[in-house]
Amino acid sequence: MCTSAPSFVSLPGVVRQLPQAYRFRVGSVLVTALSDGSVPLYPKKVLKGIGEEVLEQYLGEYLFPEHIETSINVFLVELKDRRVLIDVGAGEFFGEVGGRMLENLSYAGVHPRDVTDILVTHAHADHAGGLVSEGEPTFPNAVVHIGQADIDYFLDPAESGRAGYLPEDMADIYEQMRNAIGPYVASGQVQTFDREVEILPGITASPCPGHTPGSACYTIKTGGGSLVFVGDMVHVEAVQFRAPEVSITYDVDPDRAAETRSAMFSKLAAEGALVAAPHLRYPGIGHIRKDSKGFSWIPMIFGDRYPG
Ligand SMILES: [Zn+2]
Repeated sequence: MCTSAPSFVSLPGVVRQLPQAYRFRVGSVLVTALSDGSVPLYPKKVLKGIGEEVLEQYLGEYLFPEHIETSINVFLVELKDRRVLIDVGAGEFFGEVGGRMLENLSYAGVHPRDVTDILVTHAHADHAGGLVSEGEPTFPNAVVHIGQADIDYFLDPAESGRAGYLPEDMADIYEQMRNAIGPYVASGQVQTFDREVEILPGITASPCPGHTPGSACYTIKTGGGSLVFVGDMVHVEAVQFRAPEVSITYDVDPDRAAETRSAMFSKLAAEGALVAAPHLRYPGIGHIRKDSKGFSWIPMIFGDRYPG
């Protein structure tokens, strides 16, 4: 079912990790960041709207060479009567790369049949690919929540011919999304939204369009804390916090994506919000700070004590 798994470069020193499941509490709610693996990203190839020299400088400050090993993070939220995943990783779509989420979910003590809800930030392979395994739904009992605009855009066969924006490595995206999300649509397990709405008790979906038409942020509010899942609002820490106007070739609407990124960075920084991002270095949890150079990312401090 994976029509053309891309091949990825091997990086010196990068090895397969032991099971990765980083847990923390937001108020009373247990949240677990699950690694789906990592994938190399080439900033000089994929970032748009920045001069070569400035890009070299920003990357140099982080000592980044030609490629950046980029995390694919999935998040598990355990509520009293629900087990909620935010995105599901790449599944089988990236071949040998990605697809680690299920193993790590099992390490966290959760079986796929026990997942009640999946909040898809957007319909791209590295976020929705894990919905299916060998063509069959991976999560037979889950409701899939997703922005209506992504269903309209990616699952409508008429859109397949309108692939102008697509970089080469995403040529199969329409077919991939029909394969991944289609079975859940057919079985009536998809619920969509087109405005800000509380989709589960304490969890709100908000449209954050640009990267894709139906891209969404999800905010969980619980007694004593909140956490905002921002989806693919940001890919490259070294560049896009300094320069939120820089877009990536995978943005369907780069201008709108940049607007959304700038507005959300300002809002999240002003609120002091705890943020979860799928492609910032695992576990992808931290705060956004406004500073004299633009914004910066402050990763959550690692914690490992108290019983779970
Ligand atoms: Zn992504």
